[in-house]
Amino acid sequence: MSEADTIFQFKVTLKEIKPPIWRRFQVRSDITFRDLHNTLQVVMGWWDSHPHLFQFGELLLTDAETLAEWGEGGLRDDTIPLNRLLTVEGTSLTYEYDFGDSWQHELVLEAMLPEEETAVYPRCLAGARACPPEDCGGIWGYEQFLEAIRDPNHEEHRRYREWIGGAFDPEAFDLDKVMQQFREGVYWQGELVVPPLTSTQTFTPQARWFWRSIPEEAQTRIIGTVWCSHCEQKTTITNFKGNIQQGDLILRGECVRCGGVVVRLLEGG
Ligand SMILES: [Zn+2]
Repeated sequence: MSEADTIFQFKVTLKEIKPPIWRRFQVRSDITFRDLHNTLQVVMGWWDSHPHLFQFGELLLTDAETLAEWGEGGLRDDTIPLNRLLTVEGTSLTYEYDFGDSWQHELVLEAMLPEEETAVYPRCLAGARACPPEDCGGIWGYEQFLEAIRDPNHEEHRRYREWIGGAFDPEAFDLDKVMQQFREGVYWQGELVVPPLTSTQTFTPQARWFWRSIPEEAQTRIIGTVWCSHCEQKTTITNFKGNIQQGDLILRGECVRCGGVVVRLLEGG
């Protein structure tokens, strides 16, 4: 079993909430911590609209911007594969999302498994309870929110209902929606914020060099704004191949909505 064929099974649990909000999921062991962050956003139900970090012992991993602002001693999470740091089953680390609301997640490496030939990774196996709404004010704010939303006579009931945009079921967890978002990406206010994670991307060496020169946020924007002539609307490209033609990068893949062929051209400098 080579390292690349090893699958990591994690359980993630939001700390200090009872009954627990948790998910069990599997990823390839050679993905980066940034890919793990993207996967966590999808399984939990966050919208990747705030900074994040991993804390593993004394070690801190996050994106370059957050490192510059918060933790000079940390590592960039888009350069470190999971299997370089995580080598023992039962290892646990902390994942923090949104330093304002300060959502602390406990992440446990439950099992190291051989890859299943027919499986597509990442995949979510199970979970319970809904993710708290973004920007609800952390654990304390979430409790206030639930109290008000459950009681029609609560003085804040109407305000909170308007804020959340209707009903909210704290017990709901939709595994199919997670799997759908792995295929199609996560949208927030009409923008793609987490790219499709089960999508394949293949590049010629030159094209890969071009693609890697583009910051990750811009990559996500590019992937999420491809014109589909079949759907006649802006869509997300999945399972694409990249090559260079006359100095331009051509991405050719499928529309996540209809499966039709879509192409995106990025002009070379
Ligand atoms: Zn389409």
